[in-house]
Amino acid sequence: MLNPQLTYCPACGTRGLLHTAKHVQCPACDLELYFNPGTAVCALILNPQGEILVTIRAHDPKQGAWDLPGGFVDPGETAEQAMIREAQEELGVAIQDLKYLGSASNLLYHYKGITYQTTDLAFACTVEHPERIQAADDVQHSLWVAPENMDLTLFGFDSIRQIVARYLDNRPSPCP
Ligand SMILES: [Zn+2]
Repeated sequence: MLNPQLTYCPACGTRGLLHTAKHVQCPACDLELYFNPGTAVCALILNPQGEILVTIRAHDPKQGAWDLPGGFVDPGETAEQAMIREAQEELGVAIQDLKYLGSASNLLYHYKGITYQTTDLAFACTVEHPERIQAADDVQHSLWVAPENMDLTLFGFDSIRQIVARYLDNRPSPCP
């Protein structure tokens, strides 16, 4: 059961909603409420040295854990617009050269008593002035991590861990 605290039908107030993995159904009226995954974006921001920008989460869920810059896509936004907005909000810089990398699923995004499921869309990108990066909003601070120093166990979410691991596995080998 995804969110067992949802007990009363929001349409008719009947108690005892029927829960499935994807939705709740009211036994008294026609209401069916679906919990489709929320769309989220994250960025693998690379500097000229090939290091990856890792952020430290300022708030729950997973306060203090490693993360990538990003967040939820707002209604009406494209994933690219959301990524540019989130980078501006969290780092104070404009990202560029966005290249879609792939996606991963997060089934356990807990926030204030509700469990959300998300589909995280990952982009590789660069930033023109890395020295101007200033953590704000949901980011406590940020650090550049070289691929050989990446500690995947420090990431708060499995989806982000998978995205970083996949990137590291697929990147071109450094010249000998
Ligand atoms: Zn109802």
